[in-house]
This record gives sequence, C-alpha cells and structure tokens, in this order.
Amino acid sequence: MPALTDYAQIAAGKVRELYRVDDELLLLVASDRISAYDWVLPTAIPDKGAVLTAMSVFWFEALGDIVPNHLVSDDDARIPAEVRGRALLVRSLDMIQYECVARGYLTGSGLVDYKNTGAVCGVRLPSGLVEASKLDEPIFTPATKAPLGEHDENITFEQMAADGAEEAAELRELTLAVYRRGAEIAEKAGVILADTKLEFGRDANGRIVLGDEVLTPDSSRYWPAESYQAGHVQPSYDKQYVRDWLTSPASGWDRKSDTPPPPLPAEVVEQTRAKYVEAYERVTGKRF
Ligand code: ATP
Ligand code: MG
Repeated sequence: MPALTDYAQIAAGKVRELYRVDDELLLLVASDRISAYDWVLPTAIPDKGAVLTAMSVFWFEALGDIVPNHLVSDDDARIPAEVRGRALLVRSLDMIQYECVARGYLTGSGLVDYKNTGAVCGVRLPSGLVEASKLDEPIFTPATKAPLGEHDENITFEQMAADGAEEAAELRELTLAVYRRGAEIAEKAGVILADTKLEFGRDANGRIVLGDEVLTPDSSRYWPAESYQAGHVQPSYDKQYVRDWLTSPASGWDRKSDTPPPPLPAEVVEQTRAKYVEAYERVTGKRF
C-alpha cells in the first residue's frame, strides 16, 4: 500500500493538494479545510473533503456525454488509505490557463462588473438587473488563473480568444453546456446553481478534457431555491452558518481587520457538515 509521502506534491491550494503518482497519473486530494471571506478557517469540517470528492464523481458521470473528464478512479490501490474517500486518481493534463466560468445569475464579481460597465466580461446585459437577478441566458465569463493568494481576474471572451479563437469558442460551448446540465439537475433537487467555475486541460492526444473538481460547492455557488429572491445577497447553501457566525458578535471577529478568524464552535461545525451532506444527497439522490 502506498503512503501519501511516496508521491511528490506538485501543488497546494487553499483546500486541496495535488500529487504526482507516475508520468500519466496524479492524485487530487481534498482536505476538510473550509475557507470563508478569503481566509482558510482554523477549524475543519469533518467529511467535507469526502463529500466534495463524491460530488465531483457524480458530476463527472452525469456530464460524461457532454465532455470527457480526467477521472481514472476513486477506489484504486494507488490511492493511499489515509486519503481514501477524499482523493481521486486522475489523468495528468496540460491545464489550460483560464478559469472557465458560467453564470446563470448575477452576483459576486459579475455584479461588480455589471454595475461598473453594464456588462460582465464584455457580455452586455439589460439594464435594471440587481443582486442575484436571473439572467435570460447563462453567460460565459472567463478569468485568468491567479497565483495562490491572489484573486482571479475577469477577462473578456475576446481577450481569451486572442490566445486561440477555436479553443476559446470550444471552451465556451462546453462550459455553458455543463452549466445548463448542472443547473437543470440541481433545480429538480430544489437547489439553484447560480454559477460555476470549470478547469479544462488537454490530454496526450490534444483532446480537451474536464479536470479539477466539478460542480462542487467550492467551485460553484449553490443557493436554496425555496428562499430565492432577487434584490439581495442569497444565503449560501453550504457556508451560511459559518458566515453568519463569523460576522456575528459571538465570534468577536472583525472581518475588516487583518486578524485571522477564530475557531468555529462545535455546533457551527456540525450544522455545516450536515449542509454539505444534505447538498450531496439532494443533488445526487444518493445517501452519503
Ligand atoms: P485555490 O482553488 O485554493 O484558489 P488553486 O486553484 O491553485 O487554489 P487547487 O484548486 O487546490 O488550487 O489545486 C488544484 C490544482 O490542480 C489546480 O492548479 C488545477 O489546475 C490542477 N489540476 C486539476 N486537475 C488537473 C489535472 N488533471 N492535471 C493537471 N493539473 C490539474
Ligand atoms: Mg482551485
């Protein structure tokens, strides 16, 4: 049985790590760490890594007729026991250096763009839209991949296409198709998929392949459908307990300060864990 230390770590993000298994294969490990307000919190959410990993596997399968993906196995002897359940064996890809974002609703950096320019990443939108407005059609809003600790930067489709018009057009089609399928399946489960970020790469044959994690709460905004109302910031399906507690007097934390957030109380951890499991079970229709 291999140990994680048998593999060379080749990347580490806020919540995930990437290891090299051999020339062709990588191990994508999801931790239980959670981030909020741009901080990695000092308290982990038990099972979060496993839930998000299982969700990615569900979606890779549900999207299989739209786009090939990098998943080789979630249950393979080359996955060390210590990370089994929250690690995927994946095909190593030559990653395309853009974040491929699809938005069906206006929020976050999209709303900021819209307020400043009337467009998001150059996509003109009708006037009068507000926080969380549903868009008539989902839009493709690419971003450059920022180094660890920095924010991705929104760009226009034309900027992306300057690097290769055919590739950009293909990525836009794939991204919108994935979003549409995801939103449709989520909607049946009473969950709004507001937006999502995808990462694609090319395999050894030059084929475009969906990589990274897909349609997880960490790469997507999920909102409870029953409370949806445009005009104000929607609660997050998964992180709302954490955000509410962090910004409440009980936490004693000042979001505007440079001090790291405090540890989460046990009940916030438990409620948040339950939300991740619920999101998984509702969207996939499977038991965790
Ligand atoms: P963060 O998401 O915390 O802002 P990040 O995006 O740098 O940071 P992660 O998302 O944790 O870090 O790391 C995943 C990394 O693995 C990304 O750089 C992603 O491009 C890369 N990756 C995912 N799938 C593959 C693959 N099949 N082949 C090569 N690299 C991959
Ligand atoms: Mg990432």
